[in-house]
Amino acid sequence: MGVFDRMDHYDYGELHLKRDVATGMQAIVAIHDTRLGPALGGCRFIHYDSEDDALVDALRLARGMTYKAAISGIPHGGGKSVLIRPKGEFDRAALFRAFGHFLEDLGGHYITAEDSGTSVEDMELIRSVTKHVTGVKPENGGSGDPSPWTARGVRRGIQALAQHVLDRSDVEGLHVAVQGIGHVGYQLCRELHVLGCKLTVADVDPLKAERAQREFGAEVVDLEAIFRVESDVFAPCALGSALNDRTIPQLQCKIVAGAANNQLAFPHNGDDLYQRGIVYAPDYAVNGGGLINVAAEVTGYDEAAVAERVDRIHDTVLEIAERAKAAHSPTNRIADTMAQERLRKATEAN
Ligand code: NAD
Repeated sequence: MGVFDRMDHYDYGELHLKRDVATGMQAIVAIHDTRLGPALGGCRFIHYDSEDDALVDALRLARGMTYKAAISGIPHGGGKSVLIRPKGEFDRAALFRAFGHFLEDLGGHYITAEDSGTSVEDMELIRSVTKHVTGVKPENGGSGDPSPWTARGVRRGIQALAQHVLDRSDVEGLHVAVQGIGHVGYQLCRELHVLGCKLTVADVDPLKAERAQREFGAEVVDLEAIFRVESDVFAPCALGSALNDRTIPQLQCKIVAGAANNQLAFPHNGDDLYQRGIVYAPDYAVNGGGLINVAAEVTGYDEAAVAERVDRIHDTVLEIAERAKAAHSPTNRIADTMAQERLRKATEAN
């Protein structure tokens, strides 16, 4: 497929490519939509088997950011960048500075952030040449680790669906099965434990699962058993595509709400959950806490304002669930409609 065919397929947009001869940098900046504001999204620095894989990754991820920003109510569009990790030796500092110059040339149309393979130190290198970067050190206006904010948003989403599905005003005694006890999964367990939830966990790294057992009294199960746990909530906090043709028939929960991106392997898996009577908190609606946090760096970081906005994830998830119930429709389709409504309103206002 040609580049413009790809852009057409992903409903684009702008695509910027840069090769820097001196450093060997090969960078892709995909800007999906800027109707709500400058595009914001992370920079990936990983190996790709082909340039096409890198391009598709950037296009797919940037489109997801448009929807996440729109549903999270932040004044940003969707963007993502990919720096193709060189195969041989390379000068990391020179590479990230070259990337910073590229962003400067784009004039703030795209603002970058940390993502797979990049660190706060890389963001600081970018910051040395452009201001169009977030995820820098807190002393330089950075917002710090986004994971606790992501976890807080997921917890608010779980509370919303506990109210909607179980008619519960609190979550005490609720049984939550958490898949993946990494940065977000651990924080989510901590929040839910404080509120009196019963936890069952699984992680490929046994030390991470055992930590949750030790600190929060969680029961540890193996990687396949986590899908079959009889629980109120299943919280996917590991990798994408946890909800697929194989796993959905195994689920024994009433609610799915977790941090992982791209939880549905295919859109029809949202229909499958709906048909099984399981209410799904759409991933990009419930896991926007980290994005809300990082977006606050652009205007001047205000922790209280971030907390208030992250807590609004409760109302967003509740609205999605209520509209889905009224429309007899899966929640993922309603979330897409709501994000598109917000984008359309922005177009009409301009
Ligand atoms: P992480 O790498 O710290 O944690 C992921 C955990 O999942 C690890 O402990 C890993 O061992 C475990 N894992 C991997 N495969 C597994 C499997 N098959 N079964 C059980 N456990 C498995 O990542 P994170 O920052 O906690 O993010 C978790 C998910 O949430 C990712 O999909 C990420 O893209 C998404 N997300 C994270 C943030 C954030 O603020 N960090 C924001 C939005 C979305």
